[in-house]
Amino acid sequence: MTVPPAEIPGLVSLVGVDRALARLLKSRLRPVLAVETLDDQNSLFLHMEGGGLPVDAVVLGMALEEPVRVAQRIHVHDKHIPILILSRPADCDQLKRTLMFSPFLGNEVTPWPTDEPDGLPAILRQAAERRRLRIRYQNALSSAQIRLEKLPLLQPEASHYLDQLLDHAPIGVVTVDPAGAILTLNRQAQDTLRVAERGALGRLLGDLFPIAERQRLCALLTRCASHGPRPGPEVFEFHSANGTPRFVETGCTPLTYRTGQRGIMLIMQDVTDRIRAERERCRAEKELRLHATVLRGFHEISSDRSLTLEEKLNRLLKLGCEQFGLPIGILSQVNGDIFRVLDSVGGEGLFPVGGTRELRQTYCGGTVLSNEPVALEHAGASEWRDHPSYTRGGLEAYIGVRVQVENELYGTLCFASPSPRPKPFSSADREILKLMSQWVGSELRRERADAHMRKLSGALEQAADAVIITDRGRFIEYVNPAFETLTGYRKEEVIGQKTYFLRSGLHDDKFYDELWQVIGTGGVYRGVLINRKKDGSLYHEMKTISPLKDDQGRVTHFISTGHDITELVRAEEQDRLHRAELAHVARLSTLGEMTSGLAHELNQPLCAITTYAQTALRVLTGPDGSAERARYGLEQVVRQAELAGEIFRRLRHFARKGDMNRRRVCLKEVIQEVAGFIHADAQQSGVRVELAVARNLPRVLADPIQIEQVLLNLARNAMDAMAGVEEPRRQLLIKARRQGIRGVRMEIHDRGRGCPQEVADRLFEPFFTTKPDGLGIGLGISQSIIEAHNGRLWLEGNSDQGATFCFTLPGDEDQAHAIRSCD
Ligand code: ADP
Repeated sequence: MTVPPAEIPGLVSLVGVDRALARLLKSRLRPVLAVETLDDQNSLFLHMEGGGLPVDAVVLGMALEEPVRVAQRIHVHDKHIPILILSRPADCDQLKRTLMFSPFLGNEVTPWPTDEPDGLPAILRQAAERRRLRIRYQNALSSAQIRLEKLPLLQPEASHYLDQLLDHAPIGVVTVDPAGAILTLNRQAQDTLRVAERGALGRLLGDLFPIAERQRLCALLTRCASHGPRPGPEVFEFHSANGTPRFVETGCTPLTYRTGQRGIMLIMQDVTDRIRAERERCRAEKELRLHATVLRGFHEISSDRSLTLEEKLNRLLKLGCEQFGLPIGILSQVNGDIFRVLDSVGGEGLFPVGGTRELRQTYCGGTVLSNEPVALEHAGASEWRDHPSYTRGGLEAYIGVRVQVENELYGTLCFASPSPRPKPFSSADREILKLMSQWVGSELRRERADAHMRKLSGALEQAADAVIITDRGRFIEYVNPAFETLTGYRKEEVIGQKTYFLRSGLHDDKFYDELWQVIGTGGVYRGVLINRKKDGSLYHEMKTISPLKDDQGRVTHFISTGHDITELVRAEEQDRLHRAELAHVARLSTLGEMTSGLAHELNQPLCAITTYAQTALRVLTGPDGSAERARYGLEQVVRQAELAGEIFRRLRHFARKGDMNRRRVCLKEVIQEVAGFIHADAQQSGVRVELAVARNLPRVLADPIQIEQVLLNLARNAMDAMAGVEEPRRQLLIKARRQGIRGVRMEIHDRGRGCPQEVADRLFEPFFTTKPDGLGIGLGISQSIIEAHNGRLWLEGNSDQGATFCFTLPGDEDQAHAIRSCD
């Protein structure tokens, strides 16, 4: 801002000053100050009273006899005119003291030693300038006072009140003259301009503005002073004491004083917060736009299905180079202290793909230790200047970040340049790099998962077992080629179906309910299923069905694997039949051996019969024949004969295979009959008998007498086994339940001491017994009977807490579609 030169120069009056000094002052002070030389004080007073040009300073020379008095008179006219009294150097101090204690003089009267004429022009210029400014200030004050006088609040407090108001107002108010010199300023304006009122008045406002802003302020004042439209407010940047920028919005209005003088009023308001908020918003907007651009770039790369992962990563490196303005981009894998380049762009072959380095020789050595990106703009001018990446690699700028895959360090993603980066990396750059690294991490994880899945699905495709994967709703999602081969169904036919089409009808609903109960509760089912192929034939499948769970442990799918064991089942059946045949033959062959034993056994009752019969005869024919004694003898005969008959019967059954009187039998009735038979024995031996017969027990095709024999035999054995245990424990439980659709399974539990292994191994051997009066043929015969019915008899549970014998009877094949239960 330039101040136009004053139209009228100021005036300095020299009174009684010698000519040489007057000449010097004239030549030095022009054109700023005009110099008037007067011979005596009277001429000066005439000038002042006559209303001549206002005098801006007076020099009283050595020619005057009483300069102090003259000064006093001048100050009567105007106490602000600066006066210099020339004095001999030796008298200066004395004169100073006189002036100090002169009641009519202010501090604008100064003694000046005559031996310092060269300093006089400058002092005069300053003094005159001070006076002119003071006059301006007085003008401003009087104009303000005049305006206040116009206010309705014409009270003495009004001006004070307004001053207070202005001083406490949060806005700065400054008035300047048309030249830009400050006339008034309130407290807030002083704070803003960082100047005290005393130092500010009369100064050019522009001088208090930062240098960079002065031109704009000058233009604003010029526009305001011109007759054109009023300029709008402008924001100027100041610096507060601590160096932080502050923003002041400055608006201005032209003023006209009562004297007709013009000026400008400036209103200055601190808008730092608003500007900061605006700048923050702009920065955030810019960042957001940047993020959006990068995200769009990511999206384009990741959604391009034509790109391989390698191509995608390479495109990402290029995107990063562009983004950060750095020519080199590297994706590395870090393994211990080895840094291996997975892919790179730029770098002119310095970072070949597959190339390795020692991790700590690279900037990435630090990066892997930090969760945040590491960035340096100018390594040579920072603490990084001794790092090998700079000293040997010559990399000036670098920004890098860790890459994690599944929460584990994988490597680094970094960008670098051999030249320093002119701009520091912003927080947005760091955020974008983090975003890139997360994207790389997730792409690598997906690739890993895909590779894993490819391996798994390859294995499933190659597997020899038939595999079915269903969703939670049990709809098939996948079957492998082995499934197609086994069942004859093609995958297109079964995907989206439930597995019901495989059911053979040989398992009841309960069977499937139990199966789903196991896997539905997260368990694994293992078992044999009889299923039906597409061509209608049946097959036995050894199946394992497991639930598949997600990360949260929720079941999402079921996977079933299985293989055909039909041949095995057949072979086992054959084997079983064969073994039964062998056992039968073995039993027959023992018949020969038995004969002698039987002869002996039968001999006993026969001898007894003979003896009893002879005795009875003798009694009947004798002289003292007693009917009582004869009856006893005959009864013994009958008993022994029955025993012999029993032995024969057992023998017959033992040897018999086939020859049965089969009919459809309700086993519930058979069980109840056996319970009746053993009732008395059980009571006598203190055994509690319990029956647990399932409802809907199917009728089986069997010889009821033989089944009765088996049950009786097993029940008697059970009661014998409990003879040695304490009475409360003696409990016999006979259970019957359905086996498959048409079969029945029987169980005879006792709570005896069980049988030791050496006994268990030989249970079914003919004549094996541990009982003193046992025959050792009961179990053998029972097994023979059950097998003759195509069933199976075996010892299932056996411990020192008791034994359980089980046998099964298969269903009636002819009645497959009309199963009738006994209920
Ligand atoms: P026996 O009539 O001689 O007992 P079995 O053939 O019926 O002949 O039984 C053979 C052997 O099997 C018995 O002597 C006994 O040792 C054992 N045994 C049979 N049933 C049981 C059982 N419920 N608990 C313990 N051992 C048993």
